[in-house]
Amino acid sequence: MTLRIRSARTLAVALLASLAVALGPAGIAAAHGPDPFLSGGPFGQNQQLTFRWRSGAEPASAIKTAIKAAAADATSTRASKAPTFVYGSGGDNPIGYGVGAPCGVNGIACFTRDAPNTFTMWLREQGHVFDWGTLKWCQTYATVPNGCYDAETIALDEFGHVAGLGHHDNLDNDSDYLDAVVQTYSRTRPNAGWNMHTFGRCDTATLQLRYDMANTSAKYSTCLDLATVLTISASPTSIVAGAATTLTATLKVVNDDDYLLLGGNLVSNRTVTLQRRAPGTTTWTTIGPMGAGPSAGTYVLTQRPSVTTEYRALFKKPSDEGIDSDNTPSVRVSVAACAGSAPYAAVIAAPCL
Ligand SMILES: [Zn+2]
Repeated sequence: MTLRIRSARTLAVALLASLAVALGPAGIAAAHGPDPFLSGGPFGQNQQLTFRWRSGAEPASAIKTAIKAAAADATSTRASKAPTFVYGSGGDNPIGYGVGAPCGVNGIACFTRDAPNTFTMWLREQGHVFDWGTLKWCQTYATVPNGCYDAETIALDEFGHVAGLGHHDNLDNDSDYLDAVVQTYSRTRPNAGWNMHTFGRCDTATLQLRYDMANTSAKYSTCLDLATVLTISASPTSIVAGAATTLTATLKVVNDDDYLLLGGNLVSNRTVTLQRRAPGTTTWTTIGPMGAGPSAGTYVLTQRPSVTTEYRALFKKPSDEGIDSDNTPSVRVSVAACAGSAPYAAVIAAPCL
């Protein structure tokens, strides 16, 4: 639902309460954090939700265009396996417009959701008279006036609700307003955010938590702050001088219950750096980035040390996503001299140049 003005805050709070907003796990959903999630559970991962125009309450042409654009915005910017939205004349989910809208008294749009089955949506009609004034949809003007609502932005807020997002909990000074398009108070032209046509980072954070990442290479929302765990192994761990050993690192999101569907995720295509040191020393020397490994979340680099060497791998928090740094414990690769004193048959069989 989308409400009008600040003076309606008391009412808005009451309406929010009626939505039975369920906050996410402790430490995840807080002011400036991911949006809360509504009651009723999620739809299916990547579930396609097809909407039709409600019979007898079809939107005006310009509003239809805006709603279809919002459906495309929701689909293309969900950054997760959240549901997709598409128009189809035989769709199960009606979207209406006009005087029949059952929205709250100050609501300019509203929705219902019955996951994982259906949803409904309504937008009030151009010219609807509220206590605070008259509703203007920007799309209905050739020359767009200030004070109008962008129907695409408002419909995107509603599609976000259908997916399960509750209104973002802004900081007291609203400095984080643009972190979410799913807002209790949508803004009118020309106020910042009045025409947001993408989900904000704290919208997608909750979609990621509830629907999971699209794939192991996808970037985590910067509205999240997830710990990672990086591990390393060497194969083999004993070689003769000059023989090869392959270091394999694996990067995962920590398997924390608070991380919901993201806990334990393998994380691919990031920069993982290999370092080495002599045993008994404390200074690490960087070797370089590790290449993509044989399976998701793995990184490899082959080395041919001439003396026993310890290795570790590092992952540095990227500036553009919400997963944290980690480094592995060290792993030792023992190197036998070429005097034929190697203790294992396999090592003895290796060429000693
Ligand atoms: Zn809303």
